[in-house]
Amino acid sequence: MSLLTVQLVPASKLPARRTHWVSIFSTVTDRLVHKYGVPSLGNLRDPVQEIFYIMLSARTTDNQYRKTYRALRAKYPSLTDLAMASAEEILSCIRDGGLGKKRAAQLRGIAAALLAKFGNDPSRHLKNLSAREAFELLNGLPGMGPKSALCVMMYSLNHDTFPVDTNVQRVASRLGALSPRLKHWQAQQRLPALVPEGRSKELHIGLVVHGRTVCLPLKPRCDRCILADLCKYGKRRTAKARSK
Ligand code: SF4
Repeated sequence: MSLLTVQLVPASKLPARRTHWVSIFSTVTDRLVHKYGVPSLGNLRDPVQEIFYIMLSARTTDNQYRKTYRALRAKYPSLTDLAMASAEEILSCIRDGGLGKKRAAQLRGIAAALLAKFGNDPSRHLKNLSAREAFELLNGLPGMGPKSALCVMMYSLNHDTFPVDTNVQRVASRLGALSPRLKHWQAQQRLPALVPEGRSKELHIGLVVHGRTVCLPLKPRCDRCILADLCKYGKRRTAKARSK
């Protein structure tokens, strides 16, 4: 099943076994939005800027990759500047963000690919692509994978696509929507089909914030969780605590 196929299936056409989870995630989304709102996680409205922002976010902290992004923008204000730079020059700008020569070459490759395909205003062209066209193009850029492509589509192109990051996968697994044994790519394939139509961004951001603040990897705070009554893992933990 393709990442886009599952995302574009209307909830009314989903097989019966999925409708239960679409309904649960509708309630989950309402509660998360009520508690956290839909805060900005620092992502950018311009799709080209967002591509580079996402590419710098691997394996580092929020503060560090924002700093690296600002340094890259300052040194290479235009795509042409970046496409003409050597990987060594770009590396000197991103090294502090924990990124290496391979990522530097990918950044240059993305700039060159966007210029070759769209000329000087790739953002405008990206905004005019269908969801499928945008996914294929973004997923094919050097160093970009499905999750990065779906992030750019959701944050900057206003498509109803659902990227699955580690926080999203962990909370969804604990709720019981996914097997905890799934690999990340399997979770990315399966979870979008369970997301209520039109609510991808609200749910994604809510799960990220919840995963960072309450449903922590090692010590989830189930006693203060607004999803506890819906959560398989949380109910099991509570029952176990009561039986002691
Ligand atoms: S009840 Fe616990 S495990 Fe379930 S979502 Fe909340 S914090 Fe996570």
